[in-house]
Amino acid sequence: MFKDSATFGDIPLSKKTISAITQMGFEEPSPIQSKTIPLVIAGNDVLGQAQTGTGKTAAFGIPIMEKISELRQVQALVLTPTRELAIQVSEELAKIGKFKKIKTLPIYGGQAIDRQIRTLKSGVQVVIGTPGRLLDHIRRGTIKLDHVNILVLDEADEMLDMGFIEDIESILEHVPKERQTLLFSATMPTEIMALADRYMHDRVTVTISKEQLTVPLIDQIYYETRDKLEGLCRVLDTEAFGRLIIFCRTKKGVDDLVASLSARGYISDGLHGDLSQAQRDRVMKRFRDGKLDILIATDVAARGLDIDQVTHVINFDIPQDPESYVHRIGRTGRAGKKGVAITFIQPREYRQLKLIEKQIKTRIIRKQLPSPADILE
Ligand code: ADP
Ligand code: MG
Repeated sequence: MFKDSATFGDIPLSKKTISAITQMGFEEPSPIQSKTIPLVIAGNDVLGQAQTGTGKTAAFGIPIMEKISELRQVQALVLTPTRELAIQVSEELAKIGKFKKIKTLPIYGGQAIDRQIRTLKSGVQVVIGTPGRLLDHIRRGTIKLDHVNILVLDEADEMLDMGFIEDIESILEHVPKERQTLLFSATMPTEIMALADRYMHDRVTVTISKEQLTVPLIDQIYYETRDKLEGLCRVLDTEAFGRLIIFCRTKKGVDDLVASLSARGYISDGLHGDLSQAQRDRVMKRFRDGKLDILIATDVAARGLDIDQVTHVINFDIPQDPESYVHRIGRTGRAGKKGVAITFIQPREYRQLKLIEKQIKTRIIRKQLPSPADILE
């Protein structure tokens, strides 16, 4: 789903880690991941810049989980600006380290400190904390950081914005100097460069630049529903479409949707990387020749497809990032023709949609799903 990246198989990762990320539904590394993971594995300090939603967590999470030993000591420390992020990062790292049985613990204000102390005593290997609460533990002597060999400053620009610089500096005093330091940020203001100059050695900088996010003549709408399949069927029954591409996040998602639609009497076909070239060519020819109206594809499979008269693009699964959104909807509205882009989201994906909207600087209009009474006869 991400552009121009190597596969996870090209990066030297253990079987356990590969299985874990496969279970998470990651099919290929994002650009920041394919650049950063090998550098961190090789022992470099890395300064990583890429916009929000580009997978920075796994960019440090994957190599960290590779490097943690079974010793029940805090070996990696991740600083995050907010408690929500601490929890989210802890969960993602735990998923990556699932088969190595790595213990992660989020530490944040607002949760009973005794509980955190008890869990720390039981032997956690990765701590993800907000600066204030971490300092609290350091001052109470309830956290031992002398085995930390990787330190991560995540969302560093936000931490600085929130005024955590002094706390961060105090924490750094308590982490061994002999360590790897990683810093991730969506933006690189001079304060961050200064921080990097002070605390990182021989760092490598990885910058993933923003693609030009321009959107042609496309009506962009979204539907929020818990039953996306039902919603999709209603749209197919009410929208007058010519040629239509539906995007799913995974290959399995594509196959499942082709099957579900077929069971409901809609004819579609799928396009993804597990098909042979001959199969893909056959599907594409039918679609181009107008013998197939509905093509269901993964981002990778549809990358760069230039097909005339695609009237609608439907994001059955919300794209992972704004670039992917722009690429997907760019399959319609070509050559000056008007197109329609429809995105289905579940209630919990609202934030992700708003993020896309913010990045592309275009309103995506919310609509109510057509009711059965609107169905075209
Ligand atoms: P960032 O920190 O850059 O804002 P996150 O690390 O929070 O981004 O990742 C954003 C979303 O993308 C998360 O839901 C994450 O699980 C997902 N994600 C990350 N890497 C991949 C990948 N390689 N394939 C699919 N999804 C991914
Ligand atoms: Mg992040």
